[in-house]
Amino acid sequence: METQVTFKVIICGAGVGGLALAAFISRNPQVEVVVYESKPEVSAAGEAIAIWKRSWQVFQDMGLDEELAKRNFPTPKEGEVRGPIYRKSDQKEDGYDFHSHLVPYGLLSIPRPKLLEMLQAKLGQNCKVLTSKQAIDFVVEDNGTQVAVLFSDGTRDTADIVVGADGVHSTTRKWFFTDFANQQTDPVKAEAYLQLVPPKWSGTYAYRCNVSAEALEAKFPDHLVWPGQGKVGVSSEKAWLIGSQHVVSYPFGAVVHFICYYSPSGETLDTVGDAHVVDVPKQHVIDAFVDWEPEVCGMLELMNPKVSRWTIFVVEGLPFAVNGRVALSWVIRRMQ
Ligand SMILES: Cc1cc2nc3c(=O)[nH]c(=O)nc-3n(C[C@H](O)[C@H](O)[C@H](O)COP(=O)(O)OP(=O)(O)OC[C@H]3O[C@@H](n4cnc5c(N)ncnc54)[C@H](O)[C@@H]3O)c2cc1C
Repeated sequence: METQVTFKVIICGAGVGGLALAAFISRNPQVEVVVYESKPEVSAAGEAIAIWKRSWQVFQDMGLDEELAKRNFPTPKEGEVRGPIYRKSDQKEDGYDFHSHLVPYGLLSIPRPKLLEMLQAKLGQNCKVLTSKQAIDFVVEDNGTQVAVLFSDGTRDTADIVVGADGVHSTTRKWFFTDFANQQTDPVKAEAYLQLVPPKWSGTYAYRCNVSAEALEAKFPDHLVWPGQGKVGVSSEKAWLIGSQHVVSYPFGAVVHFICYYSPSGETLDTVGDAHVVDVPKQHVIDAFVDWEPEVCGMLELMNPKVSRWTIFVVEGLPFAVNGRVALSWVIRRMQ
């Protein structure tokens, strides 16, 4: 007997979060899921995404381990594995390794487009993904039993619930907290909700770079990226702190990928501009790391000219993520 669809969910955004949620929910044949993506295709900028133990366990729940095996990706194994090596490199001489990280699982690195492809392979039969559909507004209708999503092309769709998985600059989050703010009688509380809308610039740029493994090996046979397994961190002592610089490198087949994190002084959100992912000349990165160890400077000199600069924005944990029939795919701040 054919199963009747009794509930409909709209998800705004076909990134990792939206597609993973769609794959989970659409396992239930009674639920229809429609994912709306603003871009003309389901795609992800950036090279690879590192998957750590917790995400891997979610992947296993979803059966993504089978999809990985089909595509000949090695799957992580239980047991301690050597992870990144941290090195003090922000000086010309006498750099040293100061920490060798053990991780409770092998680290898995998956190209982002492959991950999106695998997630799409897990979507249920009552799930569809529609592209070139930018959500711009939401309207609660039918005495609060339905919610309509309005799109920039003038169309609309309704569902029982809507989930915003539309990234750090989320339109859904804007609607969500503006709606809450409008319900407040206390202007201080209203303002506090509005403050949750704009993401904040972390102060850091991430420059995504890569270099041919052959070219690097020819010039530096003993380069820092070769020893160890998988991923090697080349970092300043203050790695991971805003105000510091660090480089994370990971060999991947014929290419060594690396991300250079740099927090320039004197820049503010106003000077950063609206283009959050832009191609920049490689000289920008070379200049930012000029006083570092020769292995770092040498890798930067040899890197491919195409460097994309990501402005890293952050949203603090939100106090809640459900407002009637609209939910946000977001981390909730623990209540004090
Ligand atoms: C430099 C860098 C390195 C990172 N490395 C890692 C890593 O190694 N491992 C890891 O786990 N995480 C990593 N992250 C974090 C990871 O990329 C994010 O956590 C993840 O992409 C969030 O997924 P998401 O689906 O919530 O949002 P996104 O990936 O931003 O996807 C949101 C989607 O919504 C679409 N959209 C936006 N607005 C609308 C709208 N109005 N209507 C419809 N669709 C819309 C967008 O086009 C996009 O497709 C990294 C982040 C950065 C910046």
